[in-house]
Amino acid sequence: MSSERFDIVVCGGGITGAGIARDAALRGLRVAVLDQHDFGSGTSSKSSKLIHGGLRYLEQGNLRLVFEGTAERAVQMKVAPHLVRPIPFLVPVYQGQRLGVRTMDAGLWLYDALALFRVPRIHRTYRGSRARDLEPALASDGLRGILEYYDCLTDDARLVLENILDAKALGADVRSYTRVAGLVRDRGGRVVAVRAVNELTGTTEELATATFVVAAGPWTDALLATLDVKAAEGPILRPTKGVHIVVDHARLPVSRAITMFTADKRAIFCLPWVERTVIGTTDTDERGDPSEVAATHADVEYLCANANRFFPSCRLVPDDVIATWAGLRPLIASDANRTSDVSREHQMFVHPEGIIVIAGGKLTTYRRMAKEVVDAAGKLLVAGNHHRAIAPCRTRKRPLPGAQGLPDENGHAVDHVARAVEQTAGVPARVATHLAQTYGQRALAVVARAAADATLLHRMDPELPYVWSEVHHAVEEELARTVEDVLVRRIPLCLRSRDQGLGVAARIGDILGAALGWSAAEKSRSVDSYRAYLERTRQFRAAS
Ligand code: FAD
Repeated sequence: MSSERFDIVVCGGGITGAGIARDAALRGLRVAVLDQHDFGSGTSSKSSKLIHGGLRYLEQGNLRLVFEGTAERAVQMKVAPHLVRPIPFLVPVYQGQRLGVRTMDAGLWLYDALALFRVPRIHRTYRGSRARDLEPALASDGLRGILEYYDCLTDDARLVLENILDAKALGADVRSYTRVAGLVRDRGGRVVAVRAVNELTGTTEELATATFVVAAGPWTDALLATLDVKAAEGPILRPTKGVHIVVDHARLPVSRAITMFTADKRAIFCLPWVERTVIGTTDTDERGDPSEVAATHADVEYLCANANRFFPSCRLVPDDVIATWAGLRPLIASDANRTSDVSREHQMFVHPEGIIVIAGGKLTTYRRMAKEVVDAAGKLLVAGNHHRAIAPCRTRKRPLPGAQGLPDENGHAVDHVARAVEQTAGVPARVATHLAQTYGQRALAVVARAAADATLLHRMDPELPYVWSEVHHAVEEELARTVEDVLVRRIPLCLRSRDQGLGVAARIGDILGAALGWSAAEKSRSVDSYRAYLERTRQFRAAS
């Protein structure tokens, strides 16, 4: 049993668990957060990477979810301006479409109003040649108009990481590759400790704690069964699979995000990623193991076909796809016929034996979910005489690590960092912008690593802005423990590079190995495991 006694042990280091750990640490609670794999490696790195109100929820009449989403969007743009950046979205409207230009315009007034008009720009409508010129690759036959509104794009894995790093800086015990394998209870059934297995060393430890929080995303039902915890009648979740594909920007050239309403009445997106374009997502029921979920040939064809309806001259085919990612939405169980009608709200279950289960929700609303959980844990701690009172939540105002020290915590401050990086390190503007948008104020520390070795500012891939000093930063400052951690979630060549980072995997293994004291066999295992990960993301090709 650990000598330290925690107030809260959190199982799951996705966005939900990371947000809870940070909120709790900020309130002065002793908290540990454990993830069986890397932080953010579950659904939280497989999203569409949008911090948004959700235009689609408006159509479903879920105004509360839109209100919450847009309110959180405003908070996240302030506390993490480097990571949560507004971009314009276009909604093309064609003749015969169910929702015409006027209806969409009315809907967008409501969308802006629910955001209390705290938007980078109020939406607007383009018609005629102004509409046709906006995105030349969009189909122009029957185009009645285009509406433009703003939402935010983020890097989901980094949002998790910055929550984890801040929690750590505030005193939280953060452990990746640590699986929760069991609970220790007292005679009355109250949780007194959590049994944790270190997946890298095989050692087991019992962490003494007053409360236990399950934030296990799509693993929730399986985990509760293992731990013998009954939170609800029947399964809590109805997981659905969502797939994204990445193609070269030249194959689908868009400079703004495009919201496309599909023939099966869903909204899917084309998202501009500078050198690449992302298309997603699908939404299908899935009961398989969340660790094994992958894009199928049918998923990829569905996304290509829908993109081709809006961009007919592009003629995308599965062979154009550079990378895919697939994740399971941990949606609350529902008997809705259509997966896209299943609620995106969250639900919390509180057990007097000291267990809290949080499920469902969105990346966008993680901070609110975390507040609810820590408030509930606080009540349990007070009821159990562990604390007299719990401090109020402070995450609304505290900047995430990359935004700490930014002069005025907004997008302009990030541009200033980019210019400072460009001038001090002499790197091209694209590299400087990438570093500022990824690390915020810390970009200067990333380039400072190259003071003694200028080759660290060389690009890892000549087409992309990632540089080698980022790998050292990932290992030394960002808790990267495997080649996959580096190439998928810290420096995602896996999603953007034509060879998905295979050409640099061995050198990354060398850098990790030197820092972590690996043997040659450990290094090979980490590189091989990355290859196996890639194979899963590429298995759709086998059916071509
Ligand atoms: P996860 O990120 O899955 O985290 C759970 C963690 O628990 C995992 O890391 C796992 O390893 C760990 N775990 C499980 N069992 C154990 C154990 N025994 N011991 C230790 N650790 C364990 N939301 C938005 O707001 N915007 C979007 O654009 C958006 N797009 C989406 C698109 C898709 C395709 C999908 C699938 C979801 C999308 N979402 C979006 C929803 C959002 O991504 C999820 O709601 C959110 O990431 C869930 O986070 P989580 O922390 O609850 O789960």
